[in-house]
Amino acid sequence: AGPAPTDTATGFAVESPNVTYGDGTINARYTYRTTDVSFADGKYQAKPKETVYDFKTQTEVGKVGLMLVGLGGNNGSTVTAGILANRRKLEWETREGPRKANYYGSVVMSSTVKLGTDTETGKDVNIPLHNLLPMAHPDNLVIGGWDISGLDLAAAMDRAQVLEPTLKSLVRKEMAGMTPLPSIYYPDFIAANQGDRADNIIPGSKACMEHVDHIRKDIRDFKDANGLDKVIVLWTANTERYADLIPGVNDTADNLLRAISAGHTEIAPSTVFAVASILESAPFINGSPQNTFVPGCIQLAEQHHTFIGGDDFKSGQTKMKSALVDFMINAGIKLTSIASYNHLGNNDGKNLSSQKQFRSKEISKSTVVDDMVAANNVLYKEGEHPDHTVVIKYMPAVGDNKRALDEYYAEIFLGGHQTISMFNVCEDSLLASPLIIDLVLITELFTRIQWRQHTTATTHQGESDCQDWKSFHSVLSVLSYMLKAPLTPPGNPVVNALAKQRSALVNIMKACVGLEPENDMTLEHKLF
Ligand code: NAD
Repeated sequence: AGPAPTDTATGFAVESPNVTYGDGTINARYTYRTTDVSFADGKYQAKPKETVYDFKTQTEVGKVGLMLVGLGGNNGSTVTAGILANRRKLEWETREGPRKANYYGSVVMSSTVKLGTDTETGKDVNIPLHNLLPMAHPDNLVIGGWDISGLDLAAAMDRAQVLEPTLKSLVRKEMAGMTPLPSIYYPDFIAANQGDRADNIIPGSKACMEHVDHIRKDIRDFKDANGLDKVIVLWTANTERYADLIPGVNDTADNLLRAISAGHTEIAPSTVFAVASILESAPFINGSPQNTFVPGCIQLAEQHHTFIGGDDFKSGQTKMKSALVDFMINAGIKLTSIASYNHLGNNDGKNLSSQKQFRSKEISKSTVVDDMVAANNVLYKEGEHPDHTVVIKYMPAVGDNKRALDEYYAEIFLGGHQTISMFNVCEDSLLASPLIIDLVLITELFTRIQWRQHTTATTHQGESDCQDWKSFHSVLSVLSYMLKAPLTPPGNPVVNALAKQRSALVNIMKACVGLEPENDMTLEHKLF
């Protein structure tokens, strides 16, 4: 038998022959049960399959740095102020009474998972998702980053018009001490209306290796100056236009590096940041919709075994859509059209008022129901799809208080119709900031998890042939819950349905401590 289970940073211990604790790791042997399906003799043959994996999670988190591209933007300044407020456990007055710093909206910090059933009471025992495995705490993140606007973060949060004045006054001093590093700015990629804030720029207006090296040095310097064990880089800068995919330019890792050296004009700033981060082994996450991860960039990440994740934060309208459409189609209701209107008045809306940048957003918002539709071959014929329109308008007066109006039109029993109208109003940056935190905490966790597969039959304690230890694939699709257009390893399916995305994350984390996925059968309450 392995060593006796000990309590870990997670606050619980798993007592199982499949789980051992020690040497700074949690080790779990986990049997993954799936079903292989083939078609023969005019019918499907379904065959249960078992694959045995070992998962090894390093328990020591270390000191983690977060570098934001777009630090001076609405999201950048809001998430920074939010972390400072939490770190200092601040309270402030609002017209509705006092408010305290919290991490509401963060699935990691503010949602719970069922650990199991209490042996005495038979009731569910729930724990914060954050406690399932040892994870970094957002209060401890060291924040820095870049912006093409040189305003310090106190002025940037004023410009953003998101936070209460009372809260701003409590964090103003610290925020004023933070100024974004100069960034790269290729005017062709973001809207022309952004030009007047671009006063903090590294010279040069197209991609070059000097820019890659400059960003790499910024990452290294930030790491050294703050004594960090790892840095995660996250793009929350303006939405760029799509980059053309050009054979010989951005199709392979080598071609991409050559094209950057040659100063090719079709390389976006976000791709330069991604390349620099990958070369520094710093995970890179893209919170905007553009195609930062051109094929050459994905290949580079694979070659360097660096995590990348994207694209586009899934905060408001799309999050509702990926929950509601999943419900409708799984309820057997035939959704026939979705009309989505947005208006917003922040700088993101201003940038998106330009057609090419809007197009990036339109693409990422449009693909979100595809997998749910394709899965229901009772309601939809091959290739059949609900109509889906997305409109975004810039309305300065509403500021960060984005409005999203959706109409879902569906066919029900015997030719009847159901119309669901939704009106979603929220401060956009207060929804996006906790997603930034989740993306970073989950990415950081996966830098500490390794797996190997058993290639011969194994018993619980018995040894068998194993592959070598590996990390998860460079394209970290487990981040999908937070992303509108989830990037998956090339050739692998995209899952948009919100509940499935959450289950994947939670159940993979559970597997790492040797616990079964939550199957919601609750037979203990049904069979007596
Ligand atoms: P914002 O315009 O307030 O902030 C973006 C910041 O990026 C600005 O300060 C700008 O100066 C800076 N910037 C632009 N190009 C840069 C570059 N090359 N290098 C460094 N900095 C650069 O926008 P926001 O509301 O903070 O949103 C940020 C991004 O997140 C947008 O692309 C938006 O579409 C995306 N997004 C936001 C949400 C949300 O709910 N807030 C949801 C999904 C996606």
